[in-house]
Amino acid sequence: MASVFSYNLATQDTTLYDIKVDRLQNTQSQETIMSSNKDWMQRDLNVLWHPCSQMKDHETLPLIPIKHGKGIYLEDFDGNRYIDAVSSWWVNIFGHANPRINDAIKQQIDTLEHVILGGFSHEAVIRLSERLVSVTPPGLSKCFYADNGSSAVEVALKMSFHYWLNKGKPKKQKFINLSNSYHGETLAALAVGDVALYKEIYEPLLMQPITVPSPDCYNREAGESWEDYSLRQFEKMETALQDHAHEVAAVIVEPLIQCAGNMRMYHPIYLTRLREACDKYGVHLIADEIAVGFGRTGTLFACEQANISPDFMCLSKGLSGGYLPISVVVTHDEVYDAFYDDYETMRAFLHSHSFTGNPIGCAAALATLDIFESDNVIENNKVLSKAMADACHRFVDHPHVSDVRQHGMVLAIEMIKDKKNKIEYDWKERRGLRVYEYALSQGALLRPLSNVTYFMPPYIIDEEQINKLADIAWTGINLATK
Ligand code: PMP
Repeated sequence: MASVFSYNLATQDTTLYDIKVDRLQNTQSQETIMSSNKDWMQRDLNVLWHPCSQMKDHETLPLIPIKHGKGIYLEDFDGNRYIDAVSSWWVNIFGHANPRINDAIKQQIDTLEHVILGGFSHEAVIRLSERLVSVTPPGLSKCFYADNGSSAVEVALKMSFHYWLNKGKPKKQKFINLSNSYHGETLAALAVGDVALYKEIYEPLLMQPITVPSPDCYNREAGESWEDYSLRQFEKMETALQDHAHEVAAVIVEPLIQCAGNMRMYHPIYLTRLREACDKYGVHLIADEIAVGFGRTGTLFACEQANISPDFMCLSKGLSGGYLPISVVVTHDEVYDAFYDDYETMRAFLHSHSFTGNPIGCAAALATLDIFESDNVIENNKVLSKAMADACHRFVDHPHVSDVRQHGMVLAIEMIKDKKNKIEYDWKERRGLRVYEYALSQGALLRPLSNVTYFMPPYIIDEEQINKLADIAWTGINLATK
């Protein structure tokens, strides 16, 4: 099949029109014949370049083409089912093909699929903004939309800088970030992140943030509490603010969990102190809740656990229940007012994306918020979080597990070579990948972060599925650390 397909694509002496027709016919005829994972994988590899992947890996590591999703499960073309334990990159919170979100989207498509948001508006985006203002921390009152997480981070950075400019403080051009942080892949978002794996190569292209050591509690001393360590680390942030406030627009953090930074976690006290210090030194606080928002850490937003309101809250992923690319930056009136003036003053925020506030994305988001409201999700998640903790307790004493950590619906297990002397596995050994491969063979999608295996499942998971995941991870980790 594949060779016929490649042959046709490679035909050189036909006209462009012929090639198009030829491709179409070829694809259609294959639709009726091709049905296995192998067929789809070959066809995929002919034409696709996958995200965050060394494509050569797929010479040995099978790519899994998914035929359909239902609830917690993804099913491939060979009929294998996988528990989506990572919510398809942390986006899916109420399961695949959720009937309520599906219905909302179908209705919206028949009403209005998209409209320019500059100068025009629509019902779904107005309703969603009202709902977001009511559920986000107090004081957040205005919603600015983008269409993915990285873009929301870019919006917050630009808005913060521009706010200070409008306020007559043009020197506030820098940003403070945390070591091991992650805020996306576009250049400014990458610049305020600190995961070398994604950032190092592009360093020549990036602005330079002021990076402060993370409160990541993995690094605490033996016997030291999360709270004490986070407080101790905060002293470094306070010093940076003292020294640099005059040139800093904002501090950007991922509240409570540095997700892409290997699911490292810290105590909410850090955020409480950070809010106080940002107020004291006149610096904005950007809370990137793109991964942790919408119930992940045990509260609707992670900032709630620190009892704080940031100046900018970035949301995406779970916002649409994981259905569609939509993101939003929620900010307060003081920021909004600093841009509100006669056009000629050139104070307006002239930033836009074509799909800003897409109605279908908004409809999915409204249905998602409805589910939170009607299904007692936050309370139910406490039971599920406890089940995750219980199922994974056995890992604590595993000879090659250095840490089992959890915030709400995220539980991470970190493998280590030598537990006593804290010697890490060589990253080239790709131990996490071994767990991933074993898990696939057992019907679970456990995409690792380096040597960390983690569960970040949709909230519709049940205790039996949690126990199954823990069993799979247990054997997988045993095999990977042999
Ligand atoms: N911020 C955080 C905290 C994230 O986890 C991510 C995505 N993993 C992003 C920003 C970027 O979002 P996107 O991939 O939609 O650009």
